[in-house]
Amino acid sequence: MEFMLSEKCRRLLVHDNYKFYKHHNTEEGLKWRCVERKCLANIYTDENATIMLKTDLNHNHERDTNVKRQVIFNSVKRKATAELAKRLQKLIRKEISSAPSGYAEKFNVKDIECIRKSISRARRSIFPHLPQSITNVHAALASTDIKTHQEDKLLQIIDEEKNFVCFSTTSNLKYL
Ligand SMILES: [Zn+2]
Repeated sequence: MEFMLSEKCRRLLVHDNYKFYKHHNTEEGLKWRCVERKCLANIYTDENATIMLKTDLNHNHERDTNVKRQVIFNSVKRKATAELAKRLQKLIRKEISSAPSGYAEKFNVKDIECIRKSISRARRSIFPHLPQSITNVHAALASTDIKTHQEDKLLQIIDEEKNFVCFSTTSNLKYL
């Protein structure tokens, strides 16, 4: 049995390049339905999804030729956005080299560039936008609860009129 994670991190069952999502528990086992909305193809597995019990594989559409690419893409994307400090090229190379056999064969330089671009975009969306004005900066600082790794308050004063902010921890101030 083969599985992959969807872009939204849902676990999908992959069979013959078709993807299935977990539908519900039935008396006959766990029912998985094809991800294509109007397709009625389904697979029943045992409750741990280790064996297939029954299948209806009459898909009304073509199989997805990109499934293997998506598997690698989604796992790189997940890691790249979770581990922001890691270099993207490194992550992609590692993911491709540790992919199950047959998954990475069809990757070429263009594919890798395409993954890299799309993941850089995903990474950028995690970071806040660069402020456009001083008012932006004040607003951003005021709405962020900035703390040290010891959970001390780090931003002490924001004065929008005089235009200054003061970073310090309460314990540091006590020493003064
Ligand atoms: Zn289908």
